[in-house]
Amino acid sequence: MSGYATEFMDAVRAKNSGEPEFLQAVAEVVESCSVVLDRHPEFRDAKILERMVEPERVIMFRVPWQGDDGEVHVNRGFRVEMNSAIGPYKGGLRFHPSVNLGILKFLAFEQVFKNSLTTLPMGGGKGGSDFDPKGKSDAEVMRFCQSFMTELQRHIGPDTDVPAGDIGVGGREIGFMFGQYKRLRNEFTGVLTGKGLDWGGSLIRPEATGYGCVYFAAEMLAARGDSFEGKTCLVSGSGNVAQYTIEKILDLGGAVVTASDSSGFIHDPAGIDRAKLAYLMELKNVKRGRISEYADKYPSATYTPTDPSLDHNPLWAVPADCAFPSATQNEINAVDAKNMLANGVSLVAEGANMPSSPEAVHAFVETGIMYAPGKASNAGGVATSGLEMSQNSMRLSWSREEVDTRLRGIMQSIHQSCVDAADEYGTPGNYVNGANIAGFMKVARAMLAQGLV
Ligand code: NDP
Repeated sequence: MSGYATEFMDAVRAKNSGEPEFLQAVAEVVESCSVVLDRHPEFRDAKILERMVEPERVIMFRVPWQGDDGEVHVNRGFRVEMNSAIGPYKGGLRFHPSVNLGILKFLAFEQVFKNSLTTLPMGGGKGGSDFDPKGKSDAEVMRFCQSFMTELQRHIGPDTDVPAGDIGVGGREIGFMFGQYKRLRNEFTGVLTGKGLDWGGSLIRPEATGYGCVYFAAEMLAARGDSFEGKTCLVSGSGNVAQYTIEKILDLGGAVVTASDSSGFIHDPAGIDRAKLAYLMELKNVKRGRISEYADKYPSATYTPTDPSLDHNPLWAVPADCAFPSATQNEINAVDAKNMLANGVSLVAEGANMPSSPEAVHAFVETGIMYAPGKASNAGGVATSGLEMSQNSMRLSWSREEVDTRLRGIMQSIHQSCVDAADEYGTPGNYVNGANIAGFMKVARAMLAQGLV
């Protein structure tokens, strides 16, 4: 790192000391973009990076709600409005007990670069709550969502800030929040994305993150004259992103042998075929069950419970060609990365946000395998949210084929932007630098043009 970058990181660390994930996300961008700042002193003079790491606005609020048994609960709600230089704030809402300000700042920061890469006019934001939807009744989830939106509605709008789903926020939660927004504001408008098809949603939005991630991986393979045909793939998670990643890998001729949740993982050497995937979707989306039940149903699979005493996750030691981490941040550490490389993995495409620790990222980049950071490879979700916003504004709906074609085109364009930026700044084949630099340039130019705001 240059002297400027080291000084910059020291200052960011001093100001945000209790936020390790945010510091991790910033450090990666600064490492990639030092070379850009050397070539563009005007960005440095205008303190573009210094401004980028300060959210434009942080909203934090109390979310009181009542359980079915009458007990009163209080959660914390957040919205981090990080950067609006290229469009209204856009990014998901996460409901998970681990949610805190630092996690949301990391996600909002990543979102700024990701949204810039999509080619669509969207700024970056992220929000959520430490509420845990797991084990709650539908009525409890509804009361929580209504209380959350009662405050959030003051701060969002179709031209201001347009939230979507993330961990713990799927179609059910978006529906409850949209209903409450409409009731309070007396407006039927595209204020949230990920809506149901009958009330303003876009075809392919549920599939988009997973499909997009596999499209990005297909581009990386094609660039090396290869394809998914016959490839064995590891997928972690079993939620929205994992499910549609598995589906698209099957479409393109690959096989998937793992899936997981926070309690453990299944290894199915016979492969998760379409019938098994349909069961997994029903299990997770309708029954809201656990991944262990997959192994109860299919004897070809083994289930391994999560063992916190281990220094690695055995899922990542299963021999395979490609890996699609699709659960959560920092789920691949240095030991996992070593195991993956030793067991044949030559492509990693991140469906989750920042699933690889900095040591794992360095191992992937140094080895020269095809490694796509989440802000590039999982951008298909927010890109399709952008397409949902366009359809809402025009008050029309595109066909499944039309949205899918646009999604594939966007993923190809993101891939090309990463390749071009990595080439231009002297690190060909490095998708981390490519994504960070390409994402940074557009936002930095817009910030410079808009003056000191
Ligand atoms: P879901 O809530 O649908 O699924 C999350 C999955 O990850 C579940 O299987 C969950 O298991 C598992 N998981 C969550 N937290 C942990 C943890 N701490 N340890 C182990 N497993 C965990 O979320 P999504 O599929 O939407 O999101 C997955 C990832 O993709 C996140 O990083 C998200 O930020 C990212 N992402 C999502 C986008 C989207 O469009 N939805 C867009 C871009 C990125 P369990 O059920 O046990 O909690």
